Parts: sequence; structure tokens; C-alpha cells
Amino acid sequence: MTQVELFKKLIAHSKEYGFVFPSSEIYDGLSAVYDYGQNGVELKNNLRRYWWEAMTRLNENIVGIDAAIFMHPTTWVASGHVGAFHDPLIDNKDSKKRYRADVLIEEWMEKQREKLEKEVEKARKRFGDAFNEKLFRQTNPRVVELTESITTVNRRMVEALDQNNLAEVKKIIEDCEIVCPISGTRNWTEIRQFNLMCETKLGSVNDEANTIYLRPETAQGIFVNYINVQKTGRMKIPFGIAQVGKAFRNEIVARQFIFRMREFEQMEMQFFVRPSEEMKWYEFWMEKRMRWHSAMGFGDSKYRFHKHEKLAHYANAASDIEFEFPFGFKEVEGIHSRTDFDLANHQKHSGKKLQYFDPDIKQSYIPYVIETSIGLDRTFLLVLSAAYAEEKVAKEDGTSDERVVLRIPPALAPVKLAVFPLVKKDGLPEMARKIMDDLKFDFACQYEEKDTIGKRYRRHDAIGTPFCITVDHQTLEDETVTIRYRDTMEQERVPASRLREIMNDKVSLTNLLRQI
Ligand code: ATP
Repeated sequence: MTQVELFKKLIAHSKEYGFVFPSSEIYDGLSAVYDYGQNGVELKNNLRRYWWEAMTRLNENIVGIDAAIFMHPTTWVASGHVGAFHDPLIDNKDSKKRYRADVLIEEWMEKQREKLEKEVEKARKRFGDAFNEKLFRQTNPRVVELTESITTVNRRMVEALDQNNLAEVKKIIEDCEIVCPISGTRNWTEIRQFNLMCETKLGSVNDEANTIYLRPETAQGIFVNYINVQKTGRMKIPFGIAQVGKAFRNEIVARQFIFRMREFEQMEMQFFVRPSEEMKWYEFWMEKRMRWHSAMGFGDSKYRFHKHEKLAHYANAASDIEFEFPFGFKEVEGIHSRTDFDLANHQKHSGKKLQYFDPDIKQSYIPYVIETSIGLDRTFLLVLSAAYAEEKVAKEDGTSDERVVLRIPPALAPVKLAVFPLVKKDGLPEMARKIMDDLKFDFACQYEEKDTIGKRYRRHDAIGTPFCITVDHQTLEDETVTIRYRDTMEQERVPASRLREIMNDKVSLTNLLRQI
């Protein structure tokens, strides 16, 4: 199965099993807006909790807030979003498709990198043990040519975007002979800047109402509350403020399912530090955030850091944590050193003092900030893409069957255990209900009695339920049940009275948090 096919299947599976639906689907949906279904909302809640507790519980110096989506309009002038939160937009006149010009160039560079790596791999095979990779990269004419062209294009792009030189960006697209993936032509429009903020009106009388923005990031809700939290919480630097909430961006290119949405949820943490110490904390948070990802157990080779060449208007260093989605390595989280840009500008625009008096060095200053910013929806997609597997399963009669299984880490799975009576008679349903009624206070459980046990297992494999408990005739005699494990499909007989203890160990969020 190709990665493109896998991604299509994942989207279909998400809908079929109640994870993600297109928004207002009965009206044919709304582009790049999605709703979470009965299983999706559980997975999303669990991921949010995993992040929240990792931030606020495991770090004594991080507290949470929940700021409003609507904010005073000056917030977005101070933050630079009114002036600079835009993307360069280009249309192909033949396909009528719209693209981000910088993304077209980045994709071109990625293709060159792939070509380059192929050359290196070919040579590695040809030369075997004698292969000197460093020398090959420095001397092979084709590799040198590719490296130089990537470096030059990247430098030109960064400079052009920095200087807002859209004609030069267009020239790069022409020089690289980039074609539209749909029409295959190079018939491009001029490039325009497009502000990504969504506007709305607030106030009872329409013509007097103020134009305000739906927040394009949750971070500003933290900055405008920084002094409130610092004073009322008696926080000492370094300290952090965490928040989870909706953000809105009128994205130009809204494809790739929930990877790029117009309404999405961010989990952000701003960490306030002494000026000049920001690089130390930047490194600290890069490592710490990678450990959070790693603890989910999808394999460290699926992740990589990507250092930003072109920095956002507020940053002096920035890296992304990228994950290997079915459509390639893409950003899931950003770690940004935001300097004192935001607080200094809010101080300027509001006229309110946002300085901190540091008792240890007896100095006042505007703190510097390290931000960790991760998309909840993107993390959701990460989990689904890493967890989805199609497998052949041997049947007892010697034939084989197929199953789709979501290997979601048990602590994050929407349903932790399903309880089945083997048959719908002989008092088994009553017994199964009794077990379920007891366990439901601690775990998300589901009771199912319809269809064969095999079909019930398949349904729960498909939504990632890690454990299925079956009540059979032996249960009536000795109060034991079978646990069937999602990943190995093995079964084990245990006393029903031990279920809580066994489950507690296997599905506990605490154990996941301990692995960070
Ligand atoms: P991209 O380059 O993909 O547009 P970004 O660099 O603009 O992302 P940030 O502003 O750093 O993203 O936002 C932090 C995180 O928020 C991202 O790493 C991503 O997980 C999430 N995010 C940003 N935009 C979207 C979106 N349109 N849909 C879903 N998640 C998003």
C-alpha cells in the first residue's frame, strides 16, 4: 500500500468509526473545518489531558489559564499579527488552484534533497564498506550541484521573504521551473500577501460594532495575563503559563485533512526567563518536549528536529518537531525563542508596566520567553497515522482474515475496555453488566452483546480498545473472565476481582507520564 493510499484509508476509517466528520456534512461540509465524533472526542480529551498534566502537574513552576477567544483588537496590533501575519499567495491560471508560494519552493527543495540522498544511497551500495560518505558528498559533481542549488534557493527565499520582495519570490519559482501539481503548467499569477486572521463584529448595533479578530494563536491570551498570574500566583522567574484552546486561521491551502484546519486547537506554554538565559531554556524545552512525544512509543525514528532558517517576526531561534506523517515529515510542534518581543510591545501599546523585579539579582526587566506550541488536532492525526495497521490474522480453520487495528497507547485510547457476555442467555449478560457497572467509575468501558465474539473483537480493534473482557459459563462457576489483548490477540484467564488492579496498571495516564 502506498502512503497516499494509506492516508485515504485513514480518513475513511476516521469517519466510519466516529473519530472525525467533515463539519456540517449534510450541507456538503465546510472547507478545512472538522467535527470530532464519539470516539474522536475521547481520544482528543485524553491527548489534551496528557499534555496538560505533563505541563502543569509535573512542573511545579508551570500553571494554567483559560483566556477568552475574543481579545481587545490592539492585542493584534501589538503582537504584530495585523502587520505581519500573512502568507504569500499564488494562483495557477490553468488549474485555478491556489498555493502558498513559500511552500511551493520548500517542496521543490525537499525534492532536490531526496534526489541528493538517492545518489548517496546508490554510491553506498556500490562502494560497500569502502564508502567514504563525507568525501563523496564533498566531491561528487551531481551531489555538489544539488547541494549548491538547494543552498542558493533557500538563501534567496529567506532574503526575499524577509524583505517582503514578492517579485523575487516569483522569480525563484520561475527559475526553479516549478509547475502546478494539478495542471502541470507554469502559468502563475503575481504573488500577493494574504492576512490569515478571521474577522468578526462585536457589539449590538452593527454599524457601531467593533471589528475584532478570532485569535490566530492562544499565546497572546497568556501574554496579556502574564502580570496577573505572576502577581496573584507569586510566581518567580523562571516560570511558565500553559493554555489549551481554539485558534482560527484563514489558511490559503487547506488540504490534508485535519493537518491544516481553519479552526483548530493549540496547546501552548510560554516560559518566562531572565534575558540572556533564553538559549539554555530553548535547548531545555526542545529536549523535554521530544521526550513527551517519545513516551507515546511510536518510535523515535519517526521524529526529527527542523531548525528554522526564516524566523517569524518575534523569534531569535526556532525549531519544529516534525513527525513522519503518511505525506512526509511535517511540523507538529514549534519551540520558539520569542525574546521580549510580545511583552515589550504589549507594554508599549497598553502603557502598563509589564516588568518583573528579580529579587535574586535585584533588577527589573521584561522577561524573555520560550514558547512550546503544539497543535492538538495535528497530534491527533499523528496518533492515528502511527497507530493504524492492517494485518492478516490466522483463523482456527486454517484460513486467514484481515483486521484493521489502531495501536493507540492504552492510556490514550477512547475506550479502555469492552465487556462482552459470550452469549445472550444463561445469566451471562447480567454478570457482564455487573462487571461493567463496577468498572465504569474508573475506566471508559463499553458493553456489547450483539454479533459473534470475533466481530465484536474486530469492532474494538478498529477503534483501538486495548482490552476486551469476555464473560462465559465458567465465569458463573468460578468468577474468572478472559482478557483478550488488542495487540497480541492473546487471551488470559483472570479472576474478575483482579480486573481493576490489572487495568489500573495498563491504562493509567500516570504510568505514561512517568515515562517522560
Ligand atoms: P505551518 O507552518 O504548518 O502553517 P505554523 O508554523 O504557522 O504552522 P505555529 O504558528 O507555530 O504553526 O503553530 C503552532 C502549532 O499549531 C503547529 O505546530 C501546529 O501543530 C498547529 N497549527 C498551526 N496551524 C494549524 C492549522 N491550520 N491546523 C491545525 N494545526 C495548526
